[in-house]
Amino acid sequence: MRCGLMSNPASRFGSVLSFSFEIKHAESNSLARVGTINTPHGPIQTPAFIPVGTKATVKSVLPEAMADLGAQALLSNAYHLYLQPGSDVLDEAGGLGTFMNWPGPTFTDSGGFQVLSLGVGFKKVLAMDAQTFRRDDVIAGNKDRLAHVDDEGVTFKSHLDGSMHRFTPEVSMQVQHQIGADIMFAFDECTTLHNTRPYQELAMDRTYAWALRCLDEHKRLTEERVGKTYQALFGVIQGAQYEDLRKKAARDLGSMESGGQSFDGFGIGGALDKGQLSTIISWVNEILPEDKPRHLLGIGAPEDLFVGVENGCDTFDCVLASRIARTSAVYTMEGRFNLSNSRFKRDFSPIDAECDCYTCANYTRAYMHHVFRGKEIVSATLATIHNERFIVRLVDQMRQALLDGNFADMKEQFLGRYLHRSGQSRD
Ligand SMILES: [Zn+2]
Repeated sequence: MRCGLMSNPASRFGSVLSFSFEIKHAESNSLARVGTINTPHGPIQTPAFIPVGTKATVKSVLPEAMADLGAQALLSNAYHLYLQPGSDVLDEAGGLGTFMNWPGPTFTDSGGFQVLSLGVGFKKVLAMDAQTFRRDDVIAGNKDRLAHVDDEGVTFKSHLDGSMHRFTPEVSMQVQHQIGADIMFAFDECTTLHNTRPYQELAMDRTYAWALRCLDEHKRLTEERVGKTYQALFGVIQGAQYEDLRKKAARDLGSMESGGQSFDGFGIGGALDKGQLSTIISWVNEILPEDKPRHLLGIGAPEDLFVGVENGCDTFDCVLASRIARTSAVYTMEGRFNLSNSRFKRDFSPIDAECDCYTCANYTRAYMHHVFRGKEIVSATLATIHNERFIVRLVDQMRQALLDGNFADMKEQFLGRYLHRSGQSRD
Protein backbone atom coordinates (compact mmCIF):
# COMPACT_ATOMS: atom_id res chain seq x y z
CA MET A 1 0.00 0.00 0.00
CA ARG A 2 2.81 2.37 0.84
CA CYS A 3 4.32 1.60 -2.53
CA GLY A 4 1.65 3.76 -4.11
CA LEU A 5 3.32 6.79 -2.61
CA MET A 6 6.42 6.25 -4.61
CA SER A 7 5.86 6.76 -8.23
CA ASN A 8 5.99 10.52 -8.49
CA PRO A 9 8.09 11.85 -5.70
CA ALA A 10 10.21 14.64 -7.03
CA SER A 11 8.11 17.33 -8.58
CA ARG A 12 5.51 17.96 -5.91
CA PHE A 13 7.82 19.04 -3.14
CA GLY A 14 10.63 21.45 -3.70
CA SER A 15 10.75 23.69 -0.70
CA VAL A 16 11.87 23.68 2.89
CA LEU A 17 8.20 23.35 3.79
CA SER A 18 8.24 19.74 2.65
CA PHE A 19 10.01 18.78 5.85
CA SER A 20 8.30 19.34 9.18
CA PHE A 21 7.78 17.83 12.60
CA GLU A 22 4.59 17.96 14.62
CA ILE A 23 4.28 16.84 18.22
CA LYS A 24 0.92 15.24 18.90
CA HIS A 25 1.40 14.30 22.52
CA ALA A 26 4.08 14.98 25.14
CA GLU A 27 4.33 13.17 28.46
CA SER A 28 4.20 15.39 31.54
CA ASN A 29 6.42 13.18 33.71
CA SER A 30 9.14 12.34 31.17
CA LEU A 31 10.71 13.63 27.96
CA ALA A 32 8.77 11.14 25.82
CA ARG A 33 6.62 12.42 22.99
CA VAL A 34 4.57 11.23 20.04
CA GLY A 35 4.78 13.02 16.72
CA THR A 36 4.96 12.97 12.96
CA ILE A 37 7.97 13.76 10.81
CA ASN A 38 6.74 14.86 7.38
CA THR A 39 9.14 14.26 4.49
CA PRO A 40 8.74 14.66 0.73
CA HIS A 41 8.34 10.87 0.53
CA GLY A 42 5.71 10.60 3.21
CA PRO A 43 5.24 10.82 6.96
CA ILE A 44 6.97 8.93 9.76
CA GLN A 45 4.86 8.41 12.85
CA THR A 46 7.16 8.68 15.86
CA PRO A 47 8.60 7.16 17.93
CA ALA A 48 9.70 4.88 15.11
CA PHE A 49 12.39 2.33 14.45
CA ILE A 50 14.11 2.83 11.09
CA PRO A 51 15.56 -0.42 9.68
CA VAL A 52 19.01 -0.21 8.13
CA GLY A 53 19.79 -0.99 4.52
CA THR A 54 23.46 -0.01 4.62
CA LYS A 55 24.18 -0.46 0.92
CA ALA A 56 20.70 0.46 -0.36
CA THR A 57 19.30 -2.94 0.55
CA VAL A 58 18.11 -4.51 3.77
CA LYS A 59 20.16 -7.67 3.39
CA SER A 60 18.08 -10.57 2.05
CA VAL A 61 14.70 -8.76 2.20
CA LEU A 62 12.77 -7.04 -0.60
CA PRO A 63 11.58 -3.47 -0.03
CA GLU A 64 7.98 -4.63 -0.48
CA ALA A 65 8.43 -6.98 2.46
CA MET A 66 9.93 -4.15 4.52
CA ALA A 67 6.83 -2.05 3.77
CA ASP A 68 4.58 -4.99 4.66
CA LEU A 69 6.29 -5.47 8.01
CA GLY A 70 5.62 -1.84 8.87
CA ALA A 71 8.95 -0.12 8.18
CA GLN A 72 8.15 3.56 7.71
CA ALA A 73 11.58 4.57 6.42
CA LEU A 74 14.99 3.02 5.69
CA LEU A 75 18.48 4.24 6.55
CA SER A 76 21.49 3.72 4.28
CA ASN A 77 25.09 4.68 4.70
CA ALA A 78 26.77 7.43 2.71
CA TYR A 79 30.24 5.97 3.17
CA HIS A 80 29.35 2.61 1.64
CA LEU A 81 27.33 4.09 -1.22
CA TYR A 82 30.07 6.62 -1.99
CA LEU A 83 32.56 3.79 -2.41
CA GLN A 84 30.15 1.51 -4.26
CA PRO A 85 28.46 2.16 -6.64
CA GLY A 86 29.38 5.87 -6.21
CA SER A 87 27.01 8.63 -5.11
CA ASP A 88 26.92 10.01 -8.67
CA VAL A 89 25.27 6.77 -9.79
CA LEU A 90 22.50 7.22 -7.23
CA ASP A 91 22.06 10.82 -8.34
CA GLU A 92 21.65 9.72 -11.94
CA ALA A 93 19.22 7.01 -10.86
CA GLY A 94 16.96 9.64 -9.27
CA GLY A 95 18.09 9.23 -5.70
CA LEU A 96 18.32 6.50 -3.11
CA GLY A 97 14.62 5.65 -2.84
CA THR A 98 14.09 5.30 -6.60
CA PHE A 99 17.35 3.41 -6.99
CA MET A 100 16.41 0.74 -4.46
CA ASN A 101 12.67 0.71 -5.24
CA TRP A 102 11.68 2.05 -1.83
CA PRO A 103 8.91 4.64 -2.12
CA GLY A 104 8.94 5.88 1.45
CA PRO A 105 11.24 8.20 3.39
CA THR A 106 14.98 7.55 3.53
CA PHE A 107 17.88 8.53 5.78
CA THR A 108 21.63 8.51 5.19
CA ASP A 109 24.21 8.33 7.91
CA SER A 110 27.03 10.78 7.12
CA GLY A 111 29.81 8.25 6.94
CA GLY A 112 31.64 9.74 9.90
CA PHE A 113 31.02 6.72 12.05
CA GLN A 114 32.20 4.25 9.40
CA VAL A 115 35.23 6.29 8.41
CA LEU A 116 36.27 6.75 12.01
CA SER A 117 35.64 3.10 12.74
CA LEU A 118 38.38 2.39 10.21
CA GLY A 119 40.61 4.74 12.11
CA VAL A 120 40.25 2.88 15.35
CA GLY A 121 40.69 -0.47 13.70
CA PHE A 122 37.23 -1.89 14.30
CA LYS A 123 35.48 -3.62 11.50
CA LYS A 124 31.85 -3.11 12.41
CA VAL A 125 31.28 -1.24 15.63
CA LEU A 126 33.10 0.99 18.02
CA ALA A 127 33.75 -0.83 21.26
CA MET A 128 31.66 0.65 24.04
CA ASP A 129 33.34 -0.98 26.97
CA ALA A 130 34.73 1.79 29.11
CA GLN A 131 36.51 -0.58 31.41
CA THR A 132 39.37 -1.51 29.12
CA PHE A 133 41.64 1.21 27.80
CA ARG A 134 41.91 4.93 27.64
CA ARG A 135 44.75 5.71 25.32
CA ASP A 136 43.94 7.65 22.19
CA ASP A 137 45.43 5.25 19.76
CA VAL A 138 45.46 2.01 21.64
CA ILE A 139 42.58 0.64 19.64
CA ALA A 140 44.58 0.72 16.46
CA GLY A 141 47.62 -0.60 18.22
CA ASN A 142 48.03 -3.87 16.43
CA LYS A 143 46.02 -3.08 13.31
CA ASP A 144 46.45 -0.99 10.21
CA ARG A 145 45.12 2.43 10.82
CA LEU A 146 42.85 3.05 7.87
CA ALA A 147 41.82 6.62 8.65
CA HIS A 148 43.54 9.80 9.79
CA VAL A 149 41.68 12.80 11.16
CA ASP A 150 42.82 16.40 10.87
CA ASP A 151 41.01 19.69 11.36
CA GLU A 152 39.86 19.79 7.75
CA GLY A 153 38.53 16.26 7.42
CA VAL A 154 39.39 12.57 7.35
CA THR A 155 41.66 10.73 4.95
CA PHE A 156 40.91 7.04 4.69
CA LYS A 157 41.66 3.91 2.79
CA SER A 158 38.77 2.08 1.14
CA HIS A 159 38.00 -1.22 2.82
CA LEU A 160 37.10 -2.53 -0.65
CA ASP A 161 40.21 -1.91 -2.73
CA GLY A 162 42.68 0.03 -0.57
CA SER A 163 42.27 3.23 -2.61
CA MET A 164 42.73 6.53 -0.74
CA HIS A 165 39.83 8.93 -0.17
CA ARG A 166 39.13 12.08 1.73
CA PHE A 167 35.91 13.16 3.45
CA THR A 168 35.48 16.72 4.55
CA PRO A 169 32.21 18.24 5.77
CA GLU A 170 31.72 19.63 2.27
CA VAL A 171 32.38 16.29 0.59
CA SER A 172 29.99 14.52 2.97
CA MET A 173 27.26 17.04 2.11
CA GLN A 174 27.93 16.69 -1.62
CA VAL A 175 27.82 12.92 -1.36
CA GLN A 176 24.63 12.94 0.70
CA HIS A 177 22.94 15.43 -1.61
CA GLN A 178 23.77 13.18 -4.54
CA ILE A 179 22.43 10.14 -2.72
CA GLY A 180 19.28 12.15 -2.13
CA ALA A 181 17.87 10.81 1.15
CA ASP A 182 15.12 12.82 2.87
CA ILE A 183 17.11 13.06 6.09
CA MET A 184 20.90 13.41 6.20
CA PHE A 185 23.36 13.78 9.04
CA ALA A 186 26.15 16.31 9.45
CA PHE A 187 29.68 14.97 9.21
CA ASP A 188 31.06 14.56 12.71
CA GLU A 189 34.01 13.05 14.42
CA CYS A 190 32.79 9.96 16.20
CA THR A 191 34.97 9.14 19.18
CA THR A 192 34.92 6.07 21.40
CA LEU A 193 34.91 5.64 25.16
CA HIS A 194 38.58 4.77 24.83
CA ASN A 195 39.59 8.29 23.88
CA THR A 196 40.96 10.54 26.61
CA ARG A 197 39.10 13.58 27.88
CA PRO A 198 41.44 16.04 26.12
CA TYR A 199 40.89 14.16 22.86
CA GLN A 200 37.10 14.23 23.36
CA GLU A 201 37.33 18.01 23.75
CA LEU A 202 39.38 18.34 20.62
CA ALA A 203 36.96 16.14 18.67
CA MET A 204 34.03 18.20 19.95
CA ASP A 205 35.59 21.43 18.75
CA ARG A 206 36.18 19.81 15.40
CA THR A 207 32.61 18.51 15.22
CA TYR A 208 31.37 22.03 16.01
CA ALA A 209 33.42 23.57 13.21
CA TRP A 210 32.39 20.79 10.83
CA ALA A 211 28.71 21.26 11.72
CA LEU A 212 28.92 24.92 10.65
CA ARG A 213 30.63 23.93 7.41
CA CYS A 214 27.96 21.29 6.79
CA LEU A 215 25.20 23.87 7.25
CA ASP A 216 26.86 26.24 4.78
CA GLU A 217 27.48 23.57 2.18
CA HIS A 218 24.00 22.14 2.65
CA LYS A 219 22.48 25.58 2.06
CA ARG A 220 24.59 26.11 -1.03
CA LEU A 221 23.69 22.70 -2.48
CA THR A 222 19.99 23.11 -1.67
CA GLU A 223 19.96 26.36 -3.63
CA GLU A 224 22.03 24.93 -6.45
CA ARG A 225 20.12 21.69 -6.90
CA VAL A 226 16.88 23.24 -8.13
CA GLY A 227 13.97 20.92 -8.81
CA LYS A 228 15.06 18.43 -6.16
CA THR A 229 13.03 17.66 -3.08
CA TYR A 230 14.25 19.26 0.13
CA GLN A 231 16.66 17.11 2.10
CA ALA A 232 16.66 17.75 5.83
CA LEU A 233 19.94 17.98 7.70
CA PHE A 234 20.38 16.75 11.27
CA GLY A 235 23.28 17.89 13.44
CA VAL A 236 25.03 15.20 15.46
CA ILE A 237 25.55 15.59 19.20
CA GLN A 238 28.81 14.09 20.45
CA GLY A 239 30.53 14.38 23.83
CA ALA A 240 30.92 10.75 24.89
CA GLN A 241 30.11 10.18 28.58
CA TYR A 242 30.88 13.71 29.74
CA GLU A 243 27.96 15.78 30.99
CA ASP A 244 29.52 19.16 30.27
CA LEU A 245 30.56 18.15 26.75
CA ARG A 246 27.19 16.60 25.86
CA LYS A 247 25.31 19.64 27.16
CA LYS A 248 27.62 22.05 25.39
CA ALA A 249 27.17 20.17 22.13
CA ALA A 250 23.39 20.23 22.55
CA ARG A 251 23.42 23.97 23.24
CA ASP A 252 25.85 24.78 20.42
CA LEU A 253 24.23 22.69 17.69
CA GLY A 254 20.71 23.31 18.97
CA SER A 255 21.08 27.03 18.38
CA MET A 256 23.51 26.92 15.45
CA GLU A 257 22.51 29.01 12.47
CA SER A 258 24.35 30.14 9.40
CA GLY A 259 22.88 32.36 6.73
CA GLY A 260 19.37 31.58 7.93
CA GLN A 261 19.99 27.83 7.81
CA SER A 262 19.72 25.79 10.99
CA PHE A 263 19.53 22.07 11.62
CA ASP A 264 16.19 20.41 10.90
CA GLY A 265 16.71 17.84 13.64
CA PHE A 266 19.44 16.16 15.62
CA GLY A 267 21.20 12.85 15.92
CA ILE A 268 22.64 11.66 19.20
CA GLY A 269 25.77 9.74 18.41
CA GLY A 270 29.11 8.56 19.51
CA ALA A 271 30.22 6.69 22.53
CA LEU A 272 27.17 5.67 24.53
CA ASP A 273 27.94 3.54 27.53
CA LYS A 274 24.92 1.27 27.94
CA GLY A 275 24.79 1.77 31.70
CA GLN A 276 24.62 5.54 31.22
CA LEU A 277 22.37 5.64 28.18
CA SER A 278 19.40 7.14 29.99
CA THR A 279 21.47 9.84 31.69
CA ILE A 280 23.34 10.86 28.56
CA ILE A 281 20.22 11.08 26.39
CA SER A 282 18.34 13.12 28.98
CA TRP A 283 21.21 15.62 29.33
CA VAL A 284 21.00 16.24 25.61
CA ASN A 285 17.26 16.15 25.06
CA GLU A 286 16.53 18.53 27.93
CA ILE A 287 18.50 21.13 25.99
CA LEU A 288 17.78 20.43 22.31
CA PRO A 289 14.91 22.43 20.79
CA GLU A 290 11.66 20.60 21.56
CA ASP A 291 10.14 21.26 18.19
CA LYS A 292 12.75 19.36 16.18
CA PRO A 293 13.07 15.58 15.82
CA ARG A 294 15.83 13.62 17.56
CA HIS A 295 17.36 10.46 16.23
CA LEU A 296 19.33 8.07 18.42
CA LEU A 297 22.05 6.66 16.18
CA GLY A 298 22.83 2.96 16.16
CA ILE A 299 20.72 1.87 19.13
CA GLY A 300 18.24 -0.96 18.65
CA ALA A 301 18.18 -3.53 21.46
CA PRO A 302 14.65 -3.72 22.91
CA GLU A 303 15.62 -2.58 26.41
CA ASP A 304 17.59 0.38 24.99
CA LEU A 305 14.69 1.48 22.79
CA PHE A 306 12.54 1.98 25.90
CA VAL A 307 15.29 4.14 27.38
CA GLY A 308 15.50 6.17 24.18
CA VAL A 309 11.75 6.71 23.91
CA GLU A 310 11.20 7.69 27.53
CA ASN A 311 14.07 10.15 27.30
CA GLY A 312 12.69 11.96 24.28
CA CYS A 313 14.16 10.32 21.18
CA ASP A 314 11.85 10.10 18.18
CA THR A 315 13.62 7.76 15.76
CA PHE A 316 16.16 4.95 16.02
CA ASP A 317 18.23 2.86 13.65
CA CYS A 318 20.34 -0.22 14.19
CA VAL A 319 21.75 -3.06 12.13
CA LEU A 320 21.36 -5.47 15.02
CA ALA A 321 17.92 -6.89 14.12
CA SER A 322 19.02 -8.01 10.65
CA ARG A 323 22.60 -8.86 11.56
CA ILE A 324 21.68 -11.27 14.36
CA ALA A 325 18.87 -12.72 12.22
CA ARG A 326 21.46 -13.98 9.75
CA THR A 327 23.16 -15.86 12.56
CA SER A 328 19.81 -17.50 13.50
CA ALA A 329 19.22 -15.33 16.60
CA VAL A 330 15.64 -14.11 16.96
CA TYR A 331 13.76 -11.78 19.29
CA THR A 332 10.58 -13.03 20.93
CA MET A 333 8.35 -11.84 23.74
CA GLU A 334 10.01 -14.52 25.80
CA GLY A 335 13.52 -13.29 25.10
CA ARG A 336 16.14 -13.81 22.44
CA PHE A 337 17.13 -17.27 21.31
CA ASN A 338 18.97 -19.14 18.61
CA LEU A 339 17.04 -21.17 16.03
CA SER A 340 20.03 -23.37 15.24
CA ASN A 341 19.73 -24.94 18.66
CA SER A 342 18.79 -28.62 18.42
CA ARG A 343 15.87 -28.16 20.80
CA PHE A 344 13.96 -26.63 17.87
CA LYS A 345 14.33 -29.59 15.51
CA ARG A 346 10.78 -30.82 16.17
CA ASP A 347 9.23 -27.60 17.44
CA PHE A 348 6.31 -26.94 15.12
CA SER A 349 5.25 -23.67 16.73
CA PRO A 350 5.99 -20.26 15.18
CA ILE A 351 9.09 -18.31 16.24
CA ASP A 352 6.84 -16.15 18.43
CA ALA A 353 3.17 -17.04 18.92
CA GLU A 354 2.35 -13.35 19.50
CA CYS A 355 4.10 -12.08 16.37
CA ASP A 356 2.04 -11.04 13.35
CA CYS A 357 4.82 -11.24 10.75
CA TYR A 358 4.83 -13.19 7.51
CA THR A 359 7.37 -15.67 8.83
CA CYS A 360 5.44 -16.47 12.00
CA ALA A 361 2.20 -16.80 10.02
CA ASN A 362 3.66 -19.38 7.64
CA TYR A 363 6.69 -21.17 9.11
CA THR A 364 7.64 -23.13 12.19
CA ARG A 365 10.70 -23.12 14.41
CA ALA A 366 11.42 -26.61 13.09
CA TYR A 367 11.51 -25.32 9.51
CA MET A 368 13.66 -22.36 10.51
CA HIS A 369 16.00 -24.73 12.32
CA HIS A 370 16.19 -26.84 9.18
CA VAL A 371 17.01 -23.96 6.80
CA PHE A 372 19.60 -22.51 9.16
CA ARG A 373 21.26 -25.89 9.64
CA GLY A 374 21.22 -26.44 5.88
CA LYS A 375 22.61 -22.92 5.28
CA GLU A 376 19.71 -22.15 2.96
CA ILE A 377 19.61 -18.52 1.81
CA VAL A 378 15.93 -18.22 2.72
CA SER A 379 16.84 -18.58 6.40
CA ALA A 380 18.25 -15.04 6.38
CA THR A 381 15.16 -13.66 4.64
CA LEU A 382 12.64 -15.27 6.98
CA ALA A 383 14.53 -14.51 10.18
CA THR A 384 15.22 -10.90 9.14
CA ILE A 385 11.53 -10.33 8.37
CA HIS A 386 10.67 -11.60 11.83
CA ASN A 387 13.31 -9.59 13.72
CA GLU A 388 12.65 -6.35 11.86
CA ARG A 389 8.92 -6.75 12.44
CA PHE A 390 9.51 -7.45 16.10
CA ILE A 391 11.50 -4.25 16.64
CA VAL A 392 9.39 -2.03 14.38
CA ARG A 393 6.24 -3.25 16.12
CA LEU A 394 7.73 -2.87 19.59
CA VAL A 395 8.41 0.83 18.99
CA ASP A 396 4.95 1.22 17.40
CA GLN A 397 3.51 -0.32 20.56
CA MET A 398 5.48 2.18 22.66
CA ARG A 399 3.93 4.96 20.58
CA GLN A 400 0.45 3.60 21.17
CA ALA A 401 1.15 3.15 24.88
CA LEU A 402 2.20 6.81 25.11
CA LEU A 403 -1.06 7.84 23.44
CA ASP A 404 -3.04 5.54 25.75
CA GLY A 405 -1.24 6.80 28.85
CA ASN A 406 0.15 3.41 29.88
CA PHE A 407 3.78 3.49 28.75
CA ALA A 408 5.20 2.61 32.17
CA ASP A 409 2.96 -0.47 32.48
CA MET A 410 3.70 -1.59 28.95
CA LYS A 411 7.45 -1.25 29.55
CA GLU A 412 7.32 -3.16 32.81
CA GLN A 413 5.27 -5.95 31.29
CA PHE A 414 7.45 -6.31 28.24
CA LEU A 415 10.81 -6.16 29.98
CA GLY A 416 9.60 -8.41 32.78
CA ARG A 417 9.02 -11.18 30.29
CA TYR A 418 11.71 -10.38 27.76
CA LEU A 419 14.68 -9.88 30.05
CA HIS A 420 13.69 -12.64 32.45
CA ARG A 421 13.62 -15.24 29.72
CA SER A 422 16.58 -13.80 27.84
CA GLY A 423 18.71 -14.38 30.88
CA GLN A 424 17.57 -17.98 31.11
CA SER A 425 17.36 -19.21 27.59
CA ARG A 426 19.96 -17.43 25.50
CA ASP A 427 22.31 -19.87 23.90
ZN1 LIG B 1 7.40 -13.10 13.49
